[in-house]
Amino acid sequence: MNSGFIVLNIFSLIVSVILIIVFFIKERVHHVEDNIYGNLLIMVFLTNLIGLILGLSLNIDNIYKDFIIIGLNKIYLIFLIISLTIFAYYTYCISRYFKENSKIINGIFFLFAFLNSLVILILPLEVNTVDNSSMTSGMAMNYTVLMFGVVYLFLMFLVLSDLKNLRNKKFIPVILLIVEAILMIVVQAFFPEMNYLVNPSWVITCLVMYFTIENPDVKMIEQLNIARDTAEKANAAKTDFLSNMSHEIRTPLNAIVGFSNLLLNDKDLSASAKDEVQDIIMASENLLEIVNGILDISKIEAGKLEIINTEFRMEDVFKELVTLSKGRLQDKPIEFKTSIDPAIPVLYGDASRIKQICVNILTNAIKYTKEGWIEFKVDSIIKDNICRLIISVEDTGIGIKEENIDKLFNKFERLDLEDNITIEGTGLGLAITKKLVDLMHGKIVVQSVFGKGSKFTVSIDTRVVKNPTLTKEEEKENPNVVVKNKKVLLVDDNKVNLKVAERLLQTYGITVTSIESGIECLERIKNGEVYDLIMLDDMMPKLSGVETLKKLKEIKGFNTQVVALTANALTGMKEKYLNDGFDAYLAKPINKDELNKVINKFLGEE
Ligand code: ADP
Repeated sequence: MNSGFIVLNIFSLIVSVILIIVFFIKERVHHVEDNIYGNLLIMVFLTNLIGLILGLSLNIDNIYKDFIIIGLNKIYLIFLIISLTIFAYYTYCISRYFKENSKIINGIFFLFAFLNSLVILILPLEVNTVDNSSMTSGMAMNYTVLMFGVVYLFLMFLVLSDLKNLRNKKFIPVILLIVEAILMIVVQAFFPEMNYLVNPSWVITCLVMYFTIENPDVKMIEQLNIARDTAEKANAAKTDFLSNMSHEIRTPLNAIVGFSNLLLNDKDLSASAKDEVQDIIMASENLLEIVNGILDISKIEAGKLEIINTEFRMEDVFKELVTLSKGRLQDKPIEFKTSIDPAIPVLYGDASRIKQICVNILTNAIKYTKEGWIEFKVDSIIKDNICRLIISVEDTGIGIKEENIDKLFNKFERLDLEDNITIEGTGLGLAITKKLVDLMHGKIVVQSVFGKGSKFTVSIDTRVVKNPTLTKEEEKENPNVVVKNKKVLLVDDNKVNLKVAERLLQTYGITVTSIESGIECLERIKNGEVYDLIMLDDMMPKLSGVETLKKLKEIKGFNTQVVALTANALTGMKEKYLNDGFDAYLAKPINKDELNKVINKFLGEE
């Protein structure tokens, strides 16, 4: 027997054993094709083994030699056809035709292999042994070649019918097998005795299969990628859903808050009715805060929350926070102590997020303190052009158990619920606070004695602005806005929203023209109608607010100021609308103070 044959076949036998061991001991993802691949490995190993025994048996000298060689040859051919059928089944399973594991298809492949084996077993086979090399012929051999042809045609069909995915590495093994077959036909045409290349070629194919698609690691990574893509898609869908939901909830809330504010100004309303209206406003504000919280956390988790730095005065933020907290304290027997370092210069940072952090910890202090005092302090350490803000809120409230401090920042986590059951909350505030502090590379520290009180300290670095451009004017508070003979064009596709804004604006004595589309807005301006201010909703059918504004600006001589009035209140939206060219932004539900500011800025008179 040719020593090349022996060496090559022993080598491929060893490789196939190693492959089997590596494949079966590794933890795997269980797919249909993985099991098929496992079977293929075993079959290839057996074919190799028989091939080797067959090669070695050519040397024996025995009266049954011919019988043994024919028998072994038949088994070898049967194993080959079974291996090829398994390979075809495998390729089918990774092809685009495979939809789900079907017993019928499974049965067809099984039947194909079984019937072929039977036919090969029955049909006559001739083996000529010359110089320790054997040549097989006869009907069994011809039949095997025919069936190989059939399977190769099937494989080629699978490959060719999915040409656009040809680059996909899953096709590498099948293309390789086809190329190997062609090569072997060519080689054997010239050197008929070199039929011992079949086994090594199978092992090479299995090896390639392993390293391209069947390696459990490759599969795991593939699975992980699929899982990650699915999760990302689901998360994006969740964020979209939440932002739509926020928009949808804001629209009716706008009506509730708007009309409640109007009712408050109604002179005929009794004192008790006014009280109830106040409660409606407070409940709506709570609801709005919850919606905003859910929206924020989902944006943060989707990595979409951006820190938007601008110039700001910490003192302004502080004043707003004090006013807001005093409002929330109502008549609780709590002393509210405040202090701010007067040396804090104009800073560059995300004022609205810093404010949000403070609102969260201040609101908690107010919620979880029955009596005593709350101290809100803003200190600073300035070094070079960095100003470290040290914001602390200390209270004499219910305090937090030591073992619970670590859980504080988990989302939806509320501590000692039995005790706090009457205190409203979602358990989102501190989770958001922590994430915001992290986003600004700051720190938050909690000190607390259960039953005595807590202290939350946040430190955030901001940049000092050397030549501030902030004008003092923006600080000016003007609660009594005076408006004379002003005309506002109000554009919103939602009738209720129109009514709310219209009524709110009318309380300033403004003449309001309400229309329901951007297209009508354009027509009116083109027709020469003049207004002192345009208030434009964004999400409108056909022509959005942003598109309307763009077209308005193309109109020659157009210089009316335009305010975005929208329920699209995702974080960063204000900046986006200002970038889009709006002169100001008002979120729905319309906040009375914000509206005051806008009216004062654009329509107010000294
Ligand atoms: P919630 O909406 O429940 O207030 P937070 O995330 O803001 O959610 O707070 C999580 C939990 O931490 C609260 O439910 C409360 O148990 C506890 N907590 C937060 N701040 C304080 C505080 N100042 N005093 C006592 N407990 C607090």
